[in-house]
Amino acid sequence: MKRILVTGGAGFIGSHLCERLLNEGNEVICLDNYFTGSKKNIIHLLNNPYFELVRHDITEPYYAEVDEVYNLACPASPIHYQHDPIKTINTSVVGATNMLGLAKRIDAKILQASTSEVYGDPHVHPQPETYWGNVNPIGLRSCYDEGKRCAESLFINYHKQKDVRIKIIRIFNTYGTRMNTNDGRVISNFIVQALKGKDITIYGEGNQTRSFQYVDDLVEGMIRMMNTDDTIIGPINIGNPSEFSILDLAKKIIEITKSKSKIIFEPLPEDDPMQRKPDITLAKKTLNNWEPKIGLEEGLSKVIEYFKGVI
Ligand code: NAD
Ligand code: UDP
Ligand code: UDP
Repeated sequence: MKRILVTGGAGFIGSHLCERLLNEGNEVICLDNYFTGSKKNIIHLLNNPYFELVRHDITEPYYAEVDEVYNLACPASPIHYQHDPIKTINTSVVGATNMLGLAKRIDAKILQASTSEVYGDPHVHPQPETYWGNVNPIGLRSCYDEGKRCAESLFINYHKQKDVRIKIIRIFNTYGTRMNTNDGRVISNFIVQALKGKDITIYGEGNQTRSFQYVDDLVEGMIRMMNTDDTIIGPINIGNPSEFSILDLAKKIIEITKSKSKIIFEPLPEDDPMQRKPDITLAKKTLNNWEPKIGLEEGLSKVIEYFKGVI
Protein backbone atom coordinates (compact mmCIF):
# COMPACT_ATOMS: atom_id res chain seq x y z
CA MET A 1 0.00 0.00 0.00
CA LYS A 2 1.36 3.43 -1.00
CA ARG A 3 0.62 6.64 0.92
CA ILE A 4 -0.19 9.38 -1.58
CA LEU A 5 -0.62 13.12 -1.07
CA VAL A 6 -3.01 14.88 -3.45
CA THR A 7 -2.89 18.68 -3.16
CA GLY A 8 -6.06 20.30 -4.46
CA GLY A 9 -7.73 16.96 -3.73
CA ALA A 10 -11.13 18.48 -2.99
CA GLY A 11 -11.26 20.13 -6.41
CA PHE A 12 -12.84 18.83 -9.60
CA ILE A 13 -9.93 16.75 -10.94
CA GLY A 14 -8.41 16.07 -7.51
CA SER A 15 -11.58 14.44 -6.19
CA HIS A 16 -11.67 11.99 -9.11
CA LEU A 17 -7.98 11.22 -8.62
CA CYS A 18 -8.40 10.61 -4.85
CA GLU A 19 -11.30 8.26 -5.53
CA ARG A 20 -9.38 6.26 -8.12
CA LEU A 21 -6.24 6.02 -5.94
CA LEU A 22 -8.31 4.77 -2.98
CA ASN A 23 -10.08 2.24 -5.20
CA GLU A 24 -6.68 0.91 -6.23
CA GLY A 25 -5.86 0.20 -2.58
CA ASN A 26 -3.74 3.22 -1.67
CA GLU A 27 -3.84 5.44 1.38
CA VAL A 28 -4.68 9.01 0.35
CA ILE A 29 -4.06 12.35 2.06
CA CYS A 30 -6.25 14.97 0.43
CA LEU A 31 -4.95 18.49 1.12
CA ASP A 32 -6.99 21.55 0.19
CA ASN A 33 -7.72 25.12 1.30
CA TYR A 34 -11.24 24.97 -0.25
CA PHE A 35 -10.72 28.08 -2.38
CA THR A 36 -12.47 26.50 -5.36
CA GLY A 37 -12.79 22.96 -4.04
CA SER A 38 -15.46 21.65 -1.74
CA LYS A 39 -16.02 18.94 0.85
CA LYS A 40 -19.05 17.94 -1.23
CA ASN A 41 -16.66 16.58 -3.88
CA ILE A 42 -15.10 14.06 -1.50
CA ILE A 43 -17.84 13.53 1.07
CA HIS A 44 -18.43 10.00 -0.24
CA LEU A 45 -14.81 9.13 0.59
CA LEU A 46 -14.87 10.33 4.20
CA ASN A 47 -15.84 7.03 5.80
CA ASN A 48 -12.92 5.24 4.15
CA PRO A 49 -10.31 4.77 6.92
CA TYR A 50 -7.52 5.12 4.35
CA PHE A 51 -8.70 8.60 3.36
CA GLU A 52 -7.45 11.62 5.30
CA LEU A 53 -8.58 15.18 4.78
CA VAL A 54 -6.27 18.10 5.62
CA ARG A 55 -7.28 21.78 5.50
CA HIS A 56 -4.06 23.51 4.49
CA ASP A 57 -2.75 26.12 2.09
CA ILE A 58 0.30 24.92 0.10
CA THR A 59 1.86 28.38 0.20
CA GLU A 60 2.70 27.41 3.82
CA PRO A 61 5.16 24.56 4.54
CA TYR A 62 3.58 21.17 5.09
CA TYR A 63 5.13 18.06 6.57
CA ALA A 64 4.00 14.47 5.99
CA GLU A 65 5.61 11.15 5.12
CA VAL A 66 4.33 9.92 1.76
CA ASP A 67 5.51 7.88 -1.23
CA GLU A 68 4.02 10.07 -3.95
CA VAL A 69 2.69 13.62 -4.36
CA TYR A 70 0.25 14.79 -7.02
CA ASN A 71 0.43 18.60 -6.99
CA LEU A 72 -2.93 19.90 -8.25
CA ALA A 73 -3.59 22.79 -5.86
CA CYS A 74 -4.29 25.91 -7.96
CA PRO A 75 -7.48 27.53 -9.18
CA ALA A 76 -7.92 26.61 -12.85
CA SER A 77 -10.85 28.64 -14.14
CA PRO A 78 -10.00 32.13 -15.48
CA ILE A 79 -12.57 33.89 -13.26
CA HIS A 80 -11.19 32.19 -10.15
CA TYR A 81 -7.47 32.50 -10.90
CA GLN A 82 -7.93 36.17 -11.84
CA HIS A 83 -9.81 36.90 -8.60
CA ASP A 84 -6.53 37.26 -6.65
CA PRO A 85 -3.70 37.08 -9.21
CA ILE A 86 -0.87 37.46 -6.67
CA LYS A 87 -2.24 34.57 -4.63
CA THR A 88 -2.48 32.49 -7.82
CA ILE A 89 1.20 33.13 -8.59
CA ASN A 90 2.17 32.27 -5.01
CA THR A 91 0.16 29.06 -5.10
CA SER A 92 2.01 27.94 -8.22
CA VAL A 93 5.47 29.14 -7.20
CA VAL A 94 5.70 29.10 -3.39
CA GLY A 95 3.31 26.13 -3.25
CA ALA A 96 5.39 24.14 -5.74
CA THR A 97 8.58 25.00 -3.81
CA ASN A 98 7.07 23.67 -0.58
CA MET A 99 5.87 20.47 -2.20
CA LEU A 100 9.26 19.99 -3.90
CA GLY A 101 10.96 20.59 -0.55
CA LEU A 102 8.72 17.92 0.95
CA ALA A 103 9.42 15.48 -1.90
CA LYS A 104 13.17 16.12 -1.55
CA ARG A 105 13.18 15.57 2.22
CA ILE A 106 11.45 12.18 2.03
CA ASP A 107 12.53 11.12 -1.49
CA ALA A 108 8.92 10.98 -2.72
CA LYS A 109 7.99 11.04 -6.41
CA ILE A 110 6.15 14.24 -7.30
CA LEU A 111 3.88 14.99 -10.27
CA GLN A 112 3.01 18.53 -11.33
CA ALA A 113 -0.38 19.28 -12.92
CA SER A 114 0.86 21.78 -15.49
CA THR A 115 -1.30 23.09 -18.27
CA SER A 116 -1.69 23.71 -21.98
CA GLU A 117 -1.75 27.39 -20.94
CA VAL A 118 2.06 27.24 -20.94
CA TYR A 119 1.67 27.40 -24.75
CA GLY A 120 -0.36 30.63 -24.40
CA ASP A 121 -2.03 31.73 -27.67
CA PRO A 122 -0.05 29.22 -29.73
CA HIS A 123 1.50 29.85 -33.13
CA VAL A 124 2.20 26.13 -33.60
CA HIS A 125 -0.80 23.86 -34.06
CA PRO A 126 -1.33 21.21 -32.72
CA GLN A 127 1.00 21.85 -29.79
CA PRO A 128 3.90 19.42 -29.22
CA GLU A 129 5.88 19.50 -25.95
CA THR A 130 8.85 21.00 -27.83
CA TYR A 131 6.92 24.23 -28.54
CA TRP A 132 7.89 27.02 -26.10
CA GLY A 133 4.65 28.92 -26.35
CA ASN A 134 3.42 32.47 -26.84
CA VAL A 135 2.48 33.94 -23.46
CA ASN A 136 1.88 37.60 -22.58
CA PRO A 137 3.88 37.97 -19.35
CA ILE A 138 1.84 40.97 -18.14
CA GLY A 139 -1.65 40.08 -19.39
CA LEU A 140 -4.76 39.02 -17.46
CA ARG A 141 -3.92 35.33 -17.79
CA SER A 142 -0.25 35.73 -16.86
CA CYS A 143 -0.75 35.01 -13.13
CA TYR A 144 -1.81 31.51 -14.11
CA ASP A 145 0.30 30.93 -17.24
CA GLU A 146 3.56 32.34 -15.88
CA GLY A 147 2.96 30.77 -12.46
CA LYS A 148 2.61 27.36 -14.11
CA ARG A 149 5.65 28.01 -16.34
CA CYS A 150 7.72 28.96 -13.31
CA ALA A 151 6.48 25.84 -11.50
CA GLU A 152 7.73 23.72 -14.43
CA SER A 153 11.11 25.44 -14.13
CA LEU A 154 11.18 24.77 -10.37
CA PHE A 155 10.39 21.11 -10.99
CA ILE A 156 13.11 20.71 -13.61
CA ASN A 157 15.67 22.46 -11.43
CA TYR A 158 14.82 20.49 -8.26
CA HIS A 159 15.36 17.44 -10.43
CA LYS A 160 18.68 18.59 -11.89
CA GLN A 161 20.11 20.23 -8.78
CA LYS A 162 18.68 18.08 -6.00
CA ASP A 163 17.81 14.76 -7.69
CA VAL A 164 14.11 15.02 -6.89
CA ARG A 165 12.08 12.43 -8.82
CA ILE A 166 9.66 14.57 -10.84
CA LYS A 167 6.92 14.15 -13.45
CA ILE A 168 5.33 17.03 -15.36
CA ILE A 169 2.11 16.66 -17.31
CA ARG A 170 0.52 19.43 -19.36
CA ILE A 171 -3.23 19.02 -19.02
CA PHE A 172 -5.49 20.27 -21.83
CA ASN A 173 -9.10 21.42 -21.20
CA THR A 174 -10.72 18.78 -19.01
CA TYR A 175 -14.36 18.48 -17.98
CA GLY A 176 -16.51 16.03 -16.07
CA THR A 177 -18.84 15.50 -13.16
CA ARG A 178 -18.21 17.55 -9.97
CA MET A 179 -17.37 20.72 -11.88
CA ASN A 180 -18.92 23.58 -9.98
CA THR A 181 -22.05 25.13 -11.48
CA ASN A 182 -20.30 28.50 -10.98
CA ASP A 183 -16.89 27.26 -12.13
CA GLY A 184 -17.00 29.72 -15.05
CA ARG A 185 -15.36 27.46 -17.63
CA VAL A 186 -17.08 26.93 -20.92
CA ILE A 187 -18.58 23.44 -20.57
CA SER A 188 -20.12 24.01 -17.16
CA ASN A 189 -21.37 27.48 -18.17
CA PHE A 190 -23.02 26.24 -21.36
CA ILE A 191 -24.64 23.18 -19.76
CA VAL A 192 -26.00 25.16 -16.82
CA GLN A 193 -27.30 27.86 -19.17
CA ALA A 194 -28.89 25.28 -21.48
CA LEU A 195 -30.57 23.41 -18.62
CA LYS A 196 -31.91 26.63 -17.10
CA GLY A 197 -33.13 27.92 -20.49
CA LYS A 198 -30.86 30.96 -20.16
CA ASP A 199 -28.90 32.57 -23.00
CA ILE A 200 -25.72 30.71 -23.95
CA THR A 201 -22.86 33.20 -23.66
CA ILE A 202 -20.24 32.85 -26.39
CA TYR A 203 -17.24 35.11 -25.87
CA GLY A 204 -16.09 36.51 -29.22
CA GLU A 205 -17.49 34.98 -32.39
CA GLY A 206 -17.12 31.40 -31.22
CA ASN A 207 -14.55 30.45 -33.85
CA GLN A 208 -11.82 29.93 -31.24
CA THR A 209 -11.15 26.23 -30.66
CA ARG A 210 -10.48 23.94 -27.72
CA SER A 211 -9.99 20.16 -27.42
CA PHE A 212 -11.96 18.71 -24.53
CA GLN A 213 -10.91 15.69 -22.50
CA TYR A 214 -13.15 13.75 -20.12
CA VAL A 215 -11.76 13.56 -16.59
CA ASP A 216 -11.52 9.74 -16.46
CA ASP A 217 -9.11 9.75 -19.41
CA LEU A 218 -6.97 12.35 -17.67
CA VAL A 219 -6.85 10.43 -14.38
CA GLU A 220 -5.76 7.29 -16.25
CA GLY A 221 -2.98 9.28 -17.96
CA MET A 222 -1.86 10.89 -14.68
CA ILE A 223 -1.53 7.57 -12.89
CA ARG A 224 0.31 5.98 -15.81
CA MET A 225 2.71 8.94 -15.77
CA MET A 226 3.34 8.60 -12.03
CA ASN A 227 4.09 4.90 -12.54
CA THR A 228 6.73 5.43 -15.24
CA ASP A 229 10.35 4.82 -14.25
CA ASP A 230 12.41 7.67 -12.81
CA THR A 231 14.02 8.54 -16.16
CA ILE A 232 10.66 9.74 -17.53
CA ILE A 233 10.11 13.27 -16.27
CA GLY A 234 8.10 14.95 -19.03
CA PRO A 235 6.66 17.39 -19.75
CA ILE A 236 4.04 15.25 -21.48
CA ASN A 237 0.76 16.52 -22.95
CA ILE A 238 -2.37 14.81 -21.64
CA GLY A 239 -5.44 15.79 -23.62
CA ASN A 240 -7.98 14.74 -26.21
CA PRO A 241 -6.96 15.85 -29.70
CA SER A 242 -10.54 16.16 -31.04
CA GLU A 243 -10.86 19.88 -31.67
CA PHE A 244 -14.10 21.89 -31.66
CA SER A 245 -14.99 25.53 -32.12
CA ILE A 246 -16.80 27.11 -29.18
CA LEU A 247 -19.78 27.78 -31.47
CA ASP A 248 -19.98 24.07 -32.37
CA LEU A 249 -19.74 23.19 -28.67
CA ALA A 250 -22.68 25.49 -27.89
CA LYS A 251 -24.75 23.93 -30.68
CA LYS A 252 -23.91 20.40 -29.51
CA ILE A 253 -24.96 21.17 -25.93
CA ILE A 254 -28.22 22.76 -27.11
CA GLU A 255 -28.89 19.66 -29.23
CA ILE A 256 -28.18 17.11 -26.48
CA THR A 257 -30.14 19.00 -23.81
CA LYS A 258 -32.95 19.86 -26.29
CA SER A 259 -32.75 23.34 -24.80
CA LYS A 260 -34.64 26.40 -26.04
CA SER A 261 -31.74 28.66 -25.04
CA LYS A 262 -30.54 31.28 -27.52
CA ILE A 263 -26.89 31.85 -28.33
CA ILE A 264 -25.64 35.37 -27.54
CA PHE A 265 -22.23 36.89 -28.23
CA GLU A 266 -20.22 38.77 -25.59
CA PRO A 267 -16.77 40.40 -25.82
CA LEU A 268 -13.79 38.07 -26.07
CA PRO A 269 -11.59 38.39 -22.94
CA GLU A 270 -8.02 39.69 -23.34
CA ASP A 271 -5.44 37.16 -24.57
CA ASP A 272 -8.02 34.38 -25.01
CA PRO A 273 -6.16 31.71 -27.06
CA MET A 274 -7.58 31.27 -30.59
CA GLN A 275 -6.80 27.59 -30.93
CA ARG A 276 -5.68 24.68 -28.84
CA LYS A 277 -5.12 21.02 -29.59
CA PRO A 278 -2.63 18.62 -28.04
CA ASP A 279 -0.11 16.59 -29.97
CA ILE A 280 -0.26 13.37 -27.91
CA THR A 281 2.37 11.36 -29.79
CA LEU A 282 4.70 11.44 -26.79
CA ALA A 283 1.99 10.38 -24.31
CA LYS A 284 1.02 7.40 -26.49
CA LYS A 285 4.64 6.31 -26.81
CA THR A 286 5.61 6.82 -23.18
CA LEU A 287 2.43 5.83 -21.34
CA ASN A 288 1.85 2.38 -22.76
CA ASN A 289 -0.41 3.45 -25.65
CA TRP A 290 -2.49 5.76 -23.47
CA GLU A 291 -5.09 7.66 -25.43
CA PRO A 292 -8.45 9.21 -24.60
CA LYS A 293 -11.39 6.78 -24.80
CA ILE A 294 -14.38 9.03 -24.12
CA GLY A 295 -15.61 11.21 -26.97
CA LEU A 296 -17.24 14.60 -26.52
CA GLU A 297 -20.87 13.48 -26.89
CA GLU A 298 -20.51 10.62 -24.43
CA GLY A 299 -18.72 12.84 -21.93
CA LEU A 300 -21.17 15.72 -22.31
CA SER A 301 -24.09 13.37 -21.74
CA LYS A 302 -22.59 12.22 -18.43
CA VAL A 303 -22.03 15.80 -17.28
CA ILE A 304 -25.49 16.91 -18.39
CA GLU A 305 -27.06 14.10 -16.32
CA TYR A 306 -24.89 15.15 -13.38
CA PHE A 307 -25.88 18.83 -13.62
CA LYS A 308 -29.56 17.90 -13.91
CA GLY A 309 -29.19 16.37 -10.45
CA VAL A 310 -27.33 19.36 -9.03
CA ILE A 311 -29.43 22.25 -10.37
P1 NAD B 1 -10.30 23.18 -9.23
O1 NAD B 1 -10.33 24.65 -9.04
O2 NAD B 1 -11.57 22.42 -9.16
O3 NAD B 1 -9.26 22.50 -8.23
C1 NAD B 1 -8.18 23.15 -7.64
C2 NAD B 1 -8.16 22.79 -6.16
O4 NAD B 1 -7.01 23.39 -5.55
C3 NAD B 1 -9.38 23.30 -5.41
O5 NAD B 1 -9.90 22.29 -4.59
C4 NAD B 1 -8.83 24.47 -4.58
O6 NAD B 1 -9.56 24.71 -3.41
C5 NAD B 1 -7.41 24.00 -4.33
N1 NAD B 1 -6.47 25.09 -4.03
C6 NAD B 1 -6.31 26.24 -4.71
N2 NAD B 1 -5.32 26.98 -4.16
C7 NAD B 1 -4.84 26.24 -3.12
C8 NAD B 1 -3.82 26.46 -2.14
N3 NAD B 1 -3.09 27.60 -2.14
N4 NAD B 1 -3.60 25.50 -1.21
C9 NAD B 1 -4.34 24.38 -1.18
N5 NAD B 1 -5.32 24.13 -2.06
C10 NAD B 1 -5.57 25.04 -3.02
O7 NAD B 1 -9.60 22.96 -10.66
P2 NAD B 1 -9.29 21.61 -11.46
O8 NAD B 1 -9.86 21.78 -12.81
O9 NAD B 1 -9.61 20.41 -10.68
O10 NAD B 1 -7.71 21.73 -11.63
C11 NAD B 1 -6.80 20.96 -10.86
C12 NAD B 1 -5.38 21.20 -11.37
O11 NAD B 1 -5.28 20.81 -12.73
C13 NAD B 1 -4.95 22.66 -11.29
O12 NAD B 1 -3.60 22.72 -10.89
C14 NAD B 1 -5.08 23.13 -12.71
O13 NAD B 1 -4.19 24.17 -13.00
C15 NAD B 1 -4.75 21.87 -13.49
N6 NAD B 1 -5.36 21.92 -14.83
C16 NAD B 1 -6.70 21.76 -15.01
C17 NAD B 1 -7.23 21.83 -16.28
C18 NAD B 1 -8.70 21.66 -16.56
O14 NAD B 1 -9.11 21.80 -17.70
N7 NAD B 1 -9.53 21.31 -15.61
C19 NAD B 1 -6.39 22.08 -17.38
C20 NAD B 1 -5.03 22.27 -17.14
C21 NAD B 1 -4.51 22.16 -15.87
N1 UDP C 1 9.19 22.15 3.02
C1 UDP C 1 7.94 21.71 3.33
N2 UDP C 1 7.78 20.41 3.76
C2 UDP C 1 8.83 19.57 3.90
C3 UDP C 1 10.13 20.03 3.57
C4 UDP C 1 10.28 21.34 3.13
O1 UDP C 1 6.95 22.43 3.22
O2 UDP C 1 8.60 18.42 4.27
C5 UDP C 1 9.36 23.53 2.54
C6 UDP C 1 10.40 24.29 3.31
O3 UDP C 1 9.75 25.01 4.35
C7 UDP C 1 11.03 25.20 2.28
C8 UDP C 1 10.61 24.63 0.94
O4 UDP C 1 9.84 23.46 1.22
O5 UDP C 1 10.49 26.49 2.37
C9 UDP C 1 11.78 24.24 0.07
O6 UDP C 1 12.55 23.28 0.72
P1 UDP C 1 14.09 23.10 0.43
O7 UDP C 1 14.61 22.02 1.32
O8 UDP C 1 14.32 22.92 -1.03
O9 UDP C 1 14.69 24.52 0.75
P2 UDP C 1 15.47 25.08 1.98
O10 UDP C 1 14.71 24.66 3.20
O11 UDP C 1 16.81 24.45 1.85
O12 UDP C 1 15.44 26.54 1.72
N1 UDP D 1 -16.06 30.78 -23.21
C1 UDP D 1 -17.24 31.20 -23.75
N2 UDP D 1 -18.32 31.34 -22.93
C2 UDP D 1 -18.29 31.05 -21.61
C3 UDP D 1 -17.07 30.58 -21.06
C4 UDP D 1 -15.97 30.47 -21.89
O1 UDP D 1 -17.34 31.48 -24.97
O2 UDP D 1 -19.34 31.19 -20.93
C5 UDP D 1 -14.89 30.61 -24.10
C6 UDP D 1 -13.62 31.28 -23.63
O3 UDP D 1 -13.58 32.64 -24.04
C7 UDP D 1 -12.55 30.42 -24.28
C8 UDP D 1 -13.18 29.03 -24.33
O4 UDP D 1 -14.59 29.23 -24.18
O5 UDP D 1 -12.32 30.86 -25.59
C9 UDP D 1 -12.70 28.11 -23.23
O6 UDP D 1 -12.82 28.79 -22.00
P1 UDP D 1 -12.49 28.13 -20.60
O7 UDP D 1 -12.55 29.22 -19.59
O8 UDP D 1 -13.33 26.93 -20.41
O9 UDP D 1 -11.00 27.59 -20.74
P2 UDP D 1 -9.62 28.24 -21.27
O10 UDP D 1 -9.89 29.53 -21.98
O11 UDP D 1 -8.80 28.43 -20.05
O12 UDP D 1 -9.10 27.20 -22.19
